[in-house]
Amino acid sequence: MTRKKSRRPGEGAATSSWTTATRTVPRFVPPALQCPDCGAVAVGSRIAHPETCPLNRGVNKVLDEDREWFEAHPGASVRVRPVTPAEVADLLAAGADRPTGDVIVLNLAPGLRMRRFTFAGGAR
Ligand SMILES: [Zn+2]
Repeated sequence: MTRKKSRRPGEGAATSSWTTATRTVPRFVPPALQCPDCGAVAVGSRIAHPETCPLNRGVNKVLDEDREWFEAHPGASVRVRPVTPAEVADLLAAGADRPTGDVIVLNLAPGLRMRRFTFAGGAR
């Protein structure tokens, strides 16, 4: 009976040492993903930058350039271009790997485009 008693929470030496052990084990808390320019913190893997954020402006500029490129090339469905520094910074801030090489921009429908970045080991 003394054995059973010592396993109840708050009673006996065994319970006390177990409680102490769980309190001393450090929890892994991943660092918050944050925009290096505006300081916006990520929710999931998305960062909601304010309009004034230089990094966000840089990404929006290249997205506008993609749109203009497809408008100038109405028969094209794919554009391959080099990755821009703003896109690299944006991906790194969101916790992604550093892209290497070209970006493959797919024109899926009018006004709907998708960028595929190239990483060491191939596009994802
Ligand atoms: Zn930002």
